[in-house]
Order: sequence, then C-alpha cells, then structure tokens
Amino acid sequence: MSPVTPSSSVKIARRGLMLVLSSPSGAGKSTIARNLLEDDPTLGISVSVTTRAKRPSEIAGKHYHFISIPQFERMRESDQLLEWAEVHGNFYGTPREPVEQAMSEGKDMLFDIDWQGARQLQEKMKADVVSIFVLPPSMTELQSRLHRRAEDTEEVIRTRLHNSRSEIEHWREYDYVIVNDDLDNAFRAVSNIVGAERIRRDRRYGLFDFVEQLLTEEPKL
Ligand code: 5GP
Repeated sequence: MSPVTPSSSVKIARRGLMLVLSSPSGAGKSTIARNLLEDDPTLGISVSVTTRAKRPSEIAGKHYHFISIPQFERMRESDQLLEWAEVHGNFYGTPREPVEQAMSEGKDMLFDIDWQGARQLQEKMKADVVSIFVLPPSMTELQSRLHRRAEDTEEVIRTRLHNSRSEIEHWREYDYVIVNDDLDNAFRAVSNIVGAERIRRDRRYGLFDFVEQLLTEEPKL
C-alpha cells in the first residue's frame, strides 16, 4: 500500500485535518478506516461513545467506549460531546477532549460517523473537516456484506438496510464520494484524498515562513 503523505524532507507546519468517513452499514467504511490507520501511524482515530451493545469481535475502548444511556446523557448535558446522534435506535457521540487535544498538536484525526455527525462537525470545524462518503456498488452487495459480517441479528440487518437509504440520501453533503466496488481501489482513493488535503495551501500556515526564507536565500553556485 502506498503511504498517505507524499514524501518530503522539508516539514512545513500545518493545521491538523479531521477526516470524516460516512457510509451506510456494510459499505466498507470501517475496513477502509482500519487500512488507513495501519498504513499511517500518525493518523489518530476518534473513539466514539455508544449506548449500543458490544459486538463479539469488538474491544471496549478500541472500537467504542460502551456506556449506558444515563452516562451518555450526562456527557451530552455537560458538553463533553463534540457531536452526537441517534443511529439505528442507539446513541453515538464523539468525545470532545481527545479531538481538541489532537487538533491543538496539529495531528490528523479520523472519524467514522454518520451524516448527522458529519454535518455537526462541518458546521463547527469548517475548513478543518474533509468529508468522504463511501457508497456500496449495489444494494444487493450491501445486503450480502451485512449477512457475511454475521455479527448482527436478522432484525438488526433489516433495520440497517432500511436505514441505509436515508443515509445515502445525504451523499451531496460530502466533499468526496467513493464507490467501494474494490477495497484496494477505494483505499487508494481515500489515501490520495488525504495526501492532497495535507498539502493544501490554506492548511499549511508554515508556508509563509518557508517562502519568506526561500526568497531571502542567495543561491550558493
Ligand atoms: P455501528 O453500530 O455499525 O458501529 O455504527 C452505526 C453507525 O453509527 C455508523 O454509520 C457509524 O459511522 C455511526 N457512528 C459511530 N460513532 C458515531 C459517533 O460518534 N457519532 C455519530 N454521529 N455517528 C457515529
């Protein structure tokens, strides 16, 4: 896999970016997110809180912080959540503190959140947010991926399939849209987006000093 940052020995300070990935359940967003994190150790992930039950394969504190509804309400009321939403009948939210910490250090962070969360982050954090929507190649493929995952009950799968249509309807609110018909290609596309967004002029405040110094330098030859 290719690195997500074009290599350069010249380091120019820039603001951290908030990479938001959304998709209906089963479109492959979590696998893309995992590949991104494995490929780039500098990328952090925002671990959400949720009131939904833990799946067998999930690790508390890594995939989610699993909390009760009263705990969630306390966090929400005391403004500890940067955004929150009810998705498929459960509450999910992004703890504010780790994000603010990462942003203040100029680190990049990945958010696996739904369209409601993406909208709230876009409103609050504006230019720091880069949003990507992942579409499945077809609804049939989406359904079979949900069954292949085999971690949810038949009823949960039905709810998720039903809700996927309303999630997809928000595709226009994203900066980038990717059709995940091949995982390697989808991962490469996301990597390319991250690479390009990192070198955007308006993100790299260190360019001012760099260019100023460049122009004062006398060529040695
Ligand atoms: P799952 O239950 O499959 O892990 O997640 C269900 C949906 O909730 C996914 O679309 C996921 O992106 C979204 N989600 C997970 N964490 C958060 C969060 O903190 N905020 C919001 N708004 N959505 C989240």
